[in-house]
Amino acid sequence: MAKILIPTPLRQYTEKHDSVELEGGSVGEVLLSLTTKFPDLRKQIFTDEGKLRSFVNVYLNDEDIRYLKKDATPVAAGDTLSIVPSIAGGATGVAEPPTATLSKDEILRYSRHLIMPEVGMEGQLKLKNAKVLLVGTGGLGAPLGLYLSAAGIGRIGLVDFDVVDFTNLQRQVIHGTKDVGRKKLDSAADKMLDINPNIQIDRYETALDSSNAMDILAPYDIVIDGTDNFPTRYLVNDACVILKKPNVYGSIFRFEGQASIFGYPGGPCYRCLYPEPPPPGLVPSCAEGGVLGILPGTIGLIQATEAVKLILGAGDPLIGRLLLYDALAMRFRELKLRRNPECPVCGDHPTVTKLIDYQQFCGMPHREEAPVATAQEGDIDPVEVKAKIDRGDDFILIDVREPHEYQICNIPTAKLIPLGELPRRVNELDSSKEIVAHCKSGVRSGKAVDFLKQAGFRARNMKGGILAWSDKVDPRVPKY
Ligand code: ZN
Repeated sequence: MAKILIPTPLRQYTEKHDSVELEGGSVGEVLLSLTTKFPDLRKQIFTDEGKLRSFVNVYLNDEDIRYLKKDATPVAAGDTLSIVPSIAGGATGVAEPPTATLSKDEILRYSRHLIMPEVGMEGQLKLKNAKVLLVGTGGLGAPLGLYLSAAGIGRIGLVDFDVVDFTNLQRQVIHGTKDVGRKKLDSAADKMLDINPNIQIDRYETALDSSNAMDILAPYDIVIDGTDNFPTRYLVNDACVILKKPNVYGSIFRFEGQASIFGYPGGPCYRCLYPEPPPPGLVPSCAEGGVLGILPGTIGLIQATEAVKLILGAGDPLIGRLLLYDALAMRFRELKLRRNPECPVCGDHPTVTKLIDYQQFCGMPHREEAPVATAQEGDIDPVEVKAKIDRGDDFILIDVREPHEYQICNIPTAKLIPLGELPRRVNELDSSKEIVAHCKSGVRSGKAVDFLKQAGFRARNMKGGILAWSDKVDPRVPKY
């Protein structure tokens, strides 16, 4: 028997099991037993040709087996197979000449560093002369910004275009309640300069994209990836490899996190680990899937630690190692990563030598085109749905969100059928009646409507989901 660990995003296909024990003499056989037991999982991790999808990695104990033959790799009793999918999830100044001294105030401020032989005066000056770019001032960027400024990193660049929102405060501890509505850049910079007025902060109020990334990254020694989406992750990775800058990576999802250092000469990059992103929608973002508020603190501080170690040249950096953190189990695991000689970016014969269109690469609509679900013909407005209910029209309203979302708020007449359960529960619906589906904002219910139409139902999507219901029909319904 071998044990297979199932990561959170895939547990929806394994009846919520986080691990299963299965028979099989090789990795291929064990994976076959797994996908026979859970058929819905099959198309998530394999292509139609039976190849492992490129955003999924399989490890046997702590060895990456992607470059080995999965059918021929033997599995012994007691071995552990891990399935590790990629998860999403954190004004150019003029460079000053390196500073050779610390002021009297700085010596007092950094005294607990200065008395450690691993840092000392020489190390503190390295920190003062270091230039670090934080991409994102959200969940991961918050602890990074607080501690890197406290540690005395002399120049810190911040990239963000967002404003502080109430839902950010559960984890983005660099922003306070009074900052809601302010630019995250200003809120973060004020807090960091309050902690340490000796540092320089460069603010880039923009979304990082292919047209600006090279210029923004160029002045910095180290880039720290605190983004929450795949297009920016691949962009940061590729730009760092091209510019030969280390990329301190972290990502978070619910109770789990990952961290590593990519783009270090000779070491692997993010594309060696995940050559391609998952299809849009498979791996939910933190906004859709949720995240434990404390988790980005843990992962962000691992990133901060690695950045400081790189600057000091101290210890063993997290290069060629993927650190996995499971907060529920309170367990860290470490997997080996190798540079893939065939990697399109950092391989021996790279094919990606300049930045590409990352929105397109990740199969995403462009940011300005579709911030929320686009309206489709046949969509129905919440006001009209309310009128149908009040008139007593004969139709079925279904809510395709998850049960814990239903507990936050719901429309009392709606029948709860989570999107993932719809295919096997579709027989609960009367096909002679019109069906109206809703979710939080209209994206999942759009998928439900597509599915129902294909199954022969008359189905319509309630535009804007329960959030729009709260705006237009019943303001007592809380938003989340
Ligand atoms: Zn690579």
